[in-house]
Formats: sequence, C-alpha cells, structure tokens
Amino acid sequence: MIFKSRRQSVTAIVGGVPIGSSAPIVVQSMTNTDTADPESTAAQVISLAAAGSQLVRITVNTDEAAQAVPEIVARVTGAGVTVPIIGDFHYNGHLLLVKHTACARALAKYRINPGNVGSKRRDENFRTIVQVAIEHGKPVRIGVNWGSLDQDLLTSMMDENALRQAPLAAKDVYMEAMIESALRSAALAEETGLPHDRIIISAKISQVQDLLDCYRRLAARCDYPLHLGLTEAGLGMKGTVATTAALSLILAEGIGDTIRVSLTPRPGDDRAEEVFIAQQVLQSLGLRSFTPQVSACPGCGRTTSTFFQKMAEDIQEYLRTQMPVWRERHPGVEELRVAVMGCVVNGPGESKHADIGISLPGTFEDPKAPVYVDGTLRVTLKGDAIVSEFLQILNDYVARKYATPANT
Ligand code: SF4
Repeated sequence: MIFKSRRQSVTAIVGGVPIGSSAPIVVQSMTNTDTADPESTAAQVISLAAAGSQLVRITVNTDEAAQAVPEIVARVTGAGVTVPIIGDFHYNGHLLLVKHTACARALAKYRINPGNVGSKRRDENFRTIVQVAIEHGKPVRIGVNWGSLDQDLLTSMMDENALRQAPLAAKDVYMEAMIESALRSAALAEETGLPHDRIIISAKISQVQDLLDCYRRLAARCDYPLHLGLTEAGLGMKGTVATTAALSLILAEGIGDTIRVSLTPRPGDDRAEEVFIAQQVLQSLGLRSFTPQVSACPGCGRTTSTFFQKMAEDIQEYLRTQMPVWRERHPGVEELRVAVMGCVVNGPGESKHADIGISLPGTFEDPKAPVYVDGTLRVTLKGDAIVSEFLQILNDYVARKYATPANT
C-alpha cells in the first residue's frame, strides 16, 4: 500500500454515517433541483442515493425551500431510502434555521460557509446557526470556499503580512486565511457549545496544486474530519481529470474523510455521474469497492471491429444496473473483476487474471471467444449470442460465488 494512513483522528456521525478516522471514505453529492419543489428534489435525492451517494446535500436558500425540506425528507424516507440529507446555507442560514424549526429538525447536518454569514454580525449569525445545531443535536460542516472567503479576515491578514520584515507571497496569505477562517469558525462553534466531534471542515479551491497545499496545512493543524472536493472543477473531461488528480494526490497522503465531485453537468446529463466518478476514484485507488470493475483493452489494428468495445460498454452498464439488487443479495460482488479483451495477444492472459474474462477474436482469428473463470478456460463461445451467453455465465458466477444463506 503506497498510501499513508488517514490523519484525522476524530469521527463525526452524520445521520448514522460515520465520517473520519478509520471509517470508510464517504461519497457525497448535491442536488441541482429547486429545493422549493419537493417532488423533483426528493426524486433526485433518491436517484443519487441509488447511485451510491451516502450523503446528499440540498440548497436551502429561501423560506419556500426551508418549508419544503420536511416534505423532501418524508418523501425520501417514504420511498425506503435512508440517506442523510444535508442543508447548504449561505447568507440567511441563521434566519431560516430559526424560523423553520421543522427544517432544522429534518436535516442531518448543516453546511455553513463562514464567508457567507453576513459582514456586520458575522460571529453572531454564525453562533445562531451553531446554537440551532446544538439544540437539534446536528453536526455542521464549516465549508470555506476560495470564491467566498471572509474578506475582512483576508484584509487584516494581508495588512499584517505587509508589516512583516519578509512578507509572504500573497497566495500564501490567501491560503493561511482559508485555514484561519475554518479553524477560527470551528473554535467559535466549540466555544458556543458544539461538541468537537460534530464538526467537519472543508476548504475548497479550484486549482489542484493550491488545493493540495491548503489541505496539507489544514490536516497538520486540526484533527476534525475533512471533506474534500475540487470546487468549480468544470465540465466534462477537464472537470473529471482535474478532480481525479486533486483527490488522488490528497487521498494518497491520508487526507480526506468524505469526498464530492463538483462537475458542471451538461444539460440533460445524469446528476449521478458525480457519484460514479467519486466512487471510481476511490475504487481505482484501492480505498473502497463499489461496483465490479471491467478491464478492457484499448483495441488496435488487430481488432478493427468495434464489437468488443460495445461489449465492454454493455457489460459495464449491465453491472451498474444490477448493483442495486446485487449489493443486497450478493455481498462482496463489488470486488468482482471482469475482463473483455479484443484479441489473442493479451486476451487470454488478462482474462485469466480477472475473476471472469472473455477474449474476443481479432480480425484474422477464428470467430470464437474463450471464456475464463477463476483463471481456467471454462467454455469457448461462438455465433451471434456471445454477449447474452457471457452474461448468463456472469450471472451464474455471481450467484454462486457471492451466495448468502438467504439466496442459496
Ligand atoms: S488485446 Fe489485442 S486488440 Fe486489444 S490492444 Fe492488445 S493487441 Fe490490440
């Protein structure tokens, strides 16, 4: 294992989900529906939870949104989904949480951005939110963000820096201000009466190197569980790659107890994509297992057909759609490794390394596809039904290998 062990020693419990210390790293996500619309928000929460999100955050920005929260939670639990729902507050959290007691009670955690609790009565407003959290027994996430840093704190730290004999670079001061904002807020929350183990901290930045620098400093100076994410990661491939790079580097240092992938979805995209990416990051790093993994070769001039690419995609999709049921019926199936290979060069070898693998025929090979199970040739498939026959072998394998007393 090349990774360092986890650094934060405190565990916070959010709606029954442990975060921090030796608890598994938690995947979370955020809705992008209008919270004032309980039907669509509850539906998205349920969809994100079905994808594997262990916590789901919703915006609570207006009276209407706060009023809708109890109904959202009721709809979600009514559907048999137990995912904790977190409220994201900016500017008016102190007003909404006091005014809407049912909302405060229904949420599993409050996210507070210390840069967005008001400029005149910042500490007072912050304390009000913390007092509501204490009253209802909720944890809070103190979520500092590069884009909304407490400007008074930054200005005073910049002024102090200017008076030094050897002033730090402006970026260093900015970084320190992020950390100061988070830690001062945490200290204020504890002074107000919030227990130490009900605080989670994040300090999100949109540049990979800066994020790494910031979290290293933060982890060295506190033992609170840390929420990780590259904020404003962006669209598509750029957002995915930048997020993966950032999270991988930080997680490898043992920093990070819960993660979120903040992608900008294209219109019509499945919001659950951010959950799948977060899971894939953790699974690729060997930190957690969520879904069976398909190894597929990239293809080359030895296989000009796209059949195996399509087959690899179909199998990946099949595995994903089966997981909600398999997760319950076949514990351990998330460790399954499947190989779909394009020709004889690496096909049999890679297939033997997987739990179950198929080596499809390359361009000039006989039209037959050997299937390997647990490293041994099991059968050679031919004809038009290769995919369905392989899936049947896969199903039988899962049922046999991951059987529980209830389904044997
Ligand atoms: S397994 Fe065959 S088809 Fe796939 S990349 Fe290797 S040589 Fe090319």
